[in-house]
Amino acid sequence: MKAYDGMYIGGAWRPAAGQDVIEVVNPVDEQVIGTVPAGTAEDVDAAVRAARDALPGWAATPPAERAARLAALRDGLVARADEIAETVTAELGSPLKFSQAVHAAVPIAVAGSYAELAATYSFEEKTGNSVVHHEPIGVVAAITPWNYPLHQIVAKVAPALAAGCTIVVKPAEDTPLVARLFAEAVHEAGVPAGVFNLVTGLGPVAGQALAEHPGVDLVSFTGSTAVGRRIAAIAAGQIKKVALELGGKSANVILPTADLAKAVNVGVANVMSNSGQTCSAWTRMLVHRDRYDEAVELAATAAAKYGDRIGPVVNAKQRDRVRGYIEKGVAEGARLVAGGPEAPRETGFFVSPTVFADVTEDMTIAQEEIFGPVLSILQYEDEEDALRIANGTVYGLAGAVWAGDETEAVAFARRMDTGQVDINGGRFNPLAPFGGYKQSGVGRELGVHGLAEYLQTKSLQF
Ligand code: NAD
Repeated sequence: MKAYDGMYIGGAWRPAAGQDVIEVVNPVDEQVIGTVPAGTAEDVDAAVRAARDALPGWAATPPAERAARLAALRDGLVARADEIAETVTAELGSPLKFSQAVHAAVPIAVAGSYAELAATYSFEEKTGNSVVHHEPIGVVAAITPWNYPLHQIVAKVAPALAAGCTIVVKPAEDTPLVARLFAEAVHEAGVPAGVFNLVTGLGPVAGQALAEHPGVDLVSFTGSTAVGRRIAAIAAGQIKKVALELGGKSANVILPTADLAKAVNVGVANVMSNSGQTCSAWTRMLVHRDRYDEAVELAATAAAKYGDRIGPVVNAKQRDRVRGYIEKGVAEGARLVAGGPEAPRETGFFVSPTVFADVTEDMTIAQEEIFGPVLSILQYEDEEDALRIANGTVYGLAGAVWAGDETEAVAFARRMDTGQVDINGGRFNPLAPFGGYKQSGVGRELGVHGLAEYLQTKSLQF
């Protein structure tokens, strides 16, 4: 147990304004592994002022120099990769191998991509008799969740810094330790004082104070729809730009011509990965009625293999929430073919990898984001029916389509109301825009589209 002090504000670790702390708990054994200060509005104000003061200098820094700082930051993350993976494993509970391969590696790729983009992006363009300048939007507030704790910070900080913005980050209560490690890497990368600031604290206190601060120009939020809605309302009152990355209920559409075993196995792995705590997870599997029974059997077998291999969910509240959804699925008439609501272990916030068959569109488990290792398998009659079901939720973050022929899969994907679709198991691309249609959010992260979120244009006419 270690008591961590201070907030990273204006280029140094400074004592928090208040005395309160947040306990960080290891979800595997429920032991307190550390405490961090619970920031208040006073800390937030100091951080926003530091970011405001640093803005003119950083905005005027040549993109090549901003790129050099980002490249140094990427190198710092590489040097700390083991420590990052171990820290995420300790506070999120994910197996160490997954923490290394995803929680540590993806932020390195994203930071690297923005080092390159900052150096190559055209911050000035000509159109007719005008020159258009792409200027930083200003001071950014980044409020992030715990499920990919470092990735979600880097996906906001790296493009903001590349754009010439300054930033204040408020990480999730459950995972502040990796955020502190990141602050150290930023410091060592030579990013000037005040350009990046970190305030740990509770959402309704520090998070809300940050979203409400008049010195903030853009709020970039990832998390629940309920909080996203609230942040959008606050931003509306101040005509502040907002970027929201919210929930999902993505469809994995297996067309009749697909390689069924591959589509089902990859689909189950996608849902169980990170213990189901992935906003873009394909939590609804859609299978043609002729192949439905076979798919259910394959999925049940695949899920059973995950029994001991997945980590817990992040905290007791999430565990209870996920188990509540499983109970609701049973109560509403879905058929459990793997897992269930019972606790698989006495200690730790574990949930059994769970698969439901005979799920119908109207069921809660087919509509709401569960955020745990729970897959719902639905049956469709024909392609039009599959499309109607796939598009039949308030969300539209991601999805997958499998077919014997890539053209057939692409044609279907083009009709889906969603921001990202993996074709026949397509791989993650850190340059592809990530973000939602419908209630999954506003704006895009990653790559050049993610950079554009932090820029505004000024046109000069000649
Ligand atoms: P949350 O939305 O409460 O938390 C996300 C971030 O927002 C945290 O940093 C939190 O401190 C902050 N926050 C909370 N209340 C705030 C407020 N009033 N003002 C400003 N900031 C505030 O999410 P949660 O409670 O950790 O998780 C609940 C559910 O949200 C999950 O079960 C899941 O469905 C969803 N979720 C989605 C994502 C995603 O990536 N889209 C990530 C995490 C959680």
